[in-house]
Amino acid sequence: MYKLPQLQYDYGALGAYISADIMQLHHSKHHQTYVDKFNAALDSVPELKERALEDLLSNLGSLPESVQTAVRNHGGGHYNHSLFWQWMSPTGGGEPTGALANAIIERYGSFQNFVDEFTTKSLAVFGSGWCWLQPNMDIVTTANQDTPIMHGGAAPLLGLDVWEHAYYLDYKNKRDDYVQAWWNVVDWEFVSSRM
Ligand code: MN
Repeated sequence: MYKLPQLQYDYGALGAYISADIMQLHHSKHHQTYVDKFNAALDSVPELKERALEDLLSNLGSLPESVQTAVRNHGGGHYNHSLFWQWMSPTGGGEPTGALANAIIERYGSFQNFVDEFTTKSLAVFGSGWCWLQPNMDIVTTANQDTPIMHGGAAPLLGLDVWEHAYYLDYKNKRDDYVQAWWNVVDWEFVSSRM
């Protein structure tokens, strides 16, 4: 059975950028619901419990139709959020270094250009979804809880949740303020570790 992962920091640790109220609601309610509904779906087709989460998400079309939507939405939600918590840190922010910095600058010209393009694409997601940095340095978006590995892509280096539940309590309808704040908590060491 899948379990809600522990955060590596307190709900209030991201301070003014993302409040304790949002972190608690997002982690203990939203993510917990993805875990619970994903487990319920797997209970209906127990042989799927022997396959890795990444394998299920990468091969949705091979799953029984009865669970495809639940695995896509709730398995995807569990996968995305399990990473999202790790992409943030109270000691985050700043800029990447090393190979990641070089790859970003080679592709986008500067770190700031990359931030601007990622921000623009995050703001352009209509409704609920995510924005991702892929290992090939592409910036892509997905709807709902879809994740790049569902669409033939590699596992993302970095991702941003732009569902309203991720920011509404703090930022109301101002997704742009949330995205600008989020850059201050990005854990570039973890992002680099995924290259
Ligand atoms: Mn979310």
